[in-house]
Amino acid sequence: MTSSVEQNAPLPSTIPDPHVIKQMRILIVDDARDNRVLLRAILRKEGYQHVAVAGSATEAYRLLGLEDGAEHAQEFDLILLDIMMPGENGIDACRKIKSFPHTRDIPIVMVSAQTDVMWLSIAFESGAIDYITKPVNRIEMLARVGAALRLKYEMDMRKAREAELLKLKSELEAANLELARLSIIDGLTGIPNRRRFDEFLELECKRARRNKLPLSLILIDVDHFKLYNDFYGHLKGDECLQAIARVLSDVVHRPGDLVARYGGEEFAAILSETDAEGAMIIARKFQERVEDQGIPHEKSPIASVVTISQGIATCTFQKPVEPPTLIEYADRALYQAKANGRNQFQFVSCP
Ligand SMILES: [Mg+2]
Repeated sequence: MTSSVEQNAPLPSTIPDPHVIKQMRILIVDDARDNRVLLRAILRKEGYQHVAVAGSATEAYRLLGLEDGAEHAQEFDLILLDIMMPGENGIDACRKIKSFPHTRDIPIVMVSAQTDVMWLSIAFESGAIDYITKPVNRIEMLARVGAALRLKYEMDMRKAREAELLKLKSELEAANLELARLSIIDGLTGIPNRRRFDEFLELECKRARRNKLPLSLILIDVDHFKLYNDFYGHLKGDECLQAIARVLSDVVHRPGDLVARYGGEEFAAILSETDAEGAMIIARKFQERVEDQGIPHEKSPIASVVTISQGIATCTFQKPVEPPTLIEYADRALYQAKANGRNQFQFVSCP
């Protein structure tokens, strides 16, 4: 699917701008004031803009928002953590920082005197990614800080990309659902369209045959709709179709039933597990409810309001039929209803 041009294109660069790295936030935790001052001075001189200090693990927790009721948690991109401190030492502090979701991903670089080296393996186990030995070598320290910050930057970028991908994915899923819905719904009336009708009738015919059940189809035509449109205009014509779609849908509720717009001013109702008698009860309701709407139709030669003509066809389990046959017979019945003067329903039994 990917073109060769795209395959050969370089990947987007993840190498961060040095200026961006210098804006990242560093926290120095050390009980010795001289060490805090020295480390901060080196970082500041190198151009790091945001360097905070804490004199104990407890103070660091407060800045990181790990204390109960802490409200002003600051965000950090790197922590330089002294191992040997009175109270909670660096190892415990590292474990604690790594146990909170919002601080878990902050890289921690341990700062240790030579005498603390035996602690280093424990420090790595507790979640530290690197260490610097005291007395601090400026070049070495800046290299390690820079590497840790670049790693953090790449992690942040990857997380942002993943979040963006997730967002795109859910947007795409929503769009697909909407597309699927639109493809089976008639835009004007909001009821199932012809495509959905065809699928549904196919399924219900098969189900009726398999389960030996009757199946009825009613085709519904709005009487003298052309005269209505010519006189009231297409906008009113659309409103009339919407009203009829609403009325017909209100009558039919069962899961196996479907009212659809068949085309133009024609509607159709598929009634599963319904014999001729049941279908005629529904058709009578359609007839009455549409008339009850009282939509004026001044040009109708047969009534003062909008009316419908209907053709009913039913197949029984003794004589199952294919969808086109059922449609053909309902159409014949509809033709008869029109020929007999409209505003009525007729029934034709399938062969
Ligand atoms: Mg110390």
